[in-house]
Amino acid sequence: MTKKLEGNVDIEALKLKKGDLAKEVEELCGENLFGCYQCGTCSAGCPFIEDMDLSPDEVIRYIILDRKEVFNSKTIWLCAACFTCAERCPRDINITKIMEALRQIILRKKIDRTNLTEISKDEKETIPQIAFVSLFRKNIG
Ligand code: SF4
Ligand code: SF4
Repeated sequence: MTKKLEGNVDIEALKLKKGDLAKEVEELCGENLFGCYQCGTCSAGCPFIEDMDLSPDEVIRYIILDRKEVFNSKTIWLCAACFTCAERCPRDINITKIMEALRQIILRKKIDRTNLTEISKDEKETIPQIAFVSLFRKNIG
């Protein structure tokens, strides 16, 4: 099933060759994507599943199928790196690291997820500093 993904990453700018997505992700995270047998256990335990446009098991399927539109999924940014999925996977696949690899592929091309100029004065004054530190680490290359 094709889902509508609303991100605006220019996939061409990532300069990934056809068929290279799984290889690139595996090189970055060290996980064996092809070990996944799509049981969905990772998704069943994810605390953010209801807000995701692709479930974690779908993210893996998209990568394996070389569907680069995965980069326009909000799931990879919503992932809080809580490791619940990684702990539960019967195939011992660390999905958290896979999500991080996808973010890194985007950020290493100097494509930032968050535009700092869009943070309002009110937000700067009320959001805890630690939240900004986390945001910068995760969303800015
Ligand atoms: S829990 Fe593991 S094997 Fe099951 S779908 Fe998720 S990644 Fe694949
Ligand atoms: S690490 Fe990310 S994908 Fe895995 S359970 Fe936590 S939020 Fe969900």
